[in-house]
Amino acid sequence: MTTPRPNDPPGEDATADIAARLQRVRAEIAAAERRHARPTRSVALLAVSKRQGPDKIRAAHAAGQRLFGESYLQEAIEKQAELAELDLEWHFIGRIQGNKTRAIAERFDWVHSLCELRHARRLAEQRPDGRPPLQVCIQVNLSSESSKGGLPPGAVAEFVNACEDLPRLAVRGLMTLPAPAGTLTEQRAPFRALRRLRDALATPARPLEVLSMGMSDDLEAAIAEGATLVRIGTAVFGPRPTA
Ligand SMILES: *Cc1c(COP(=O)(O)O)cnc(C)c1O
Repeated sequence: MTTPRPNDPPGEDATADIAARLQRVRAEIAAAERRHARPTRSVALLAVSKRQGPDKIRAAHAAGQRLFGESYLQEAIEKQAELAELDLEWHFIGRIQGNKTRAIAERFDWVHSLCELRHARRLAEQRPDGRPPLQVCIQVNLSSESSKGGLPPGAVAEFVNACEDLPRLAVRGLMTLPAPAGTLTEQRAPFRALRRLRDALATPARPLEVLSMGMSDDLEAAIAEGATLVRIGTAVFGPRPTA
């Protein structure tokens, strides 16, 4: 588990700090919605708590946050156990390992990083019957950066079609994690590409209404291009402990 660093503020200060940060992020989202003619509260906030301890999640929850994103499965499982009494919605946003799909299928509400059909098949098979379908976004690689994971845009249509035949899996939209870019214009390009891809693939029966895009440094660009969910870590929790 994450150990607090000496310069971390203790207990109540940390709670107040996270509440203040959350308030700032929510205000930033609301301002971006207004600036870019998006309906009020059309952008959900996923608090990315990877590498942050359970106390920080508790603090964010106390400040009204309910959606949390995790990238590392083992770490997430430990925190979920410690926070079992809270009503939280868990989103898996990390790289999926083929031998670990069962824990994801059993313990998460959403997966944002689906990009391999064998993973989709296993998640569908392993999703417990008593639970709602696993909500998924397909990760798309728009900056052709091999390190980032995700399907090339040209492969997404076939992948979505294949997923639709799987039980206990609900394809809700697309996700992307672009390379960092400097200017707002540069930041907007991959987000616009994701939205256009979604628009091309959407049908009334399959609206793919979720666009999971935007992080601490590019949330305005993502909201300008139609994000419906931004994944924010640092701006909510502060820098991630490195050890
Ligand atoms: C870590 C992470 C984030 C959050 O990044 P910040 O820059 O801390 O906001 C968002 N999405 C994914 C997939 C991540 O791994």
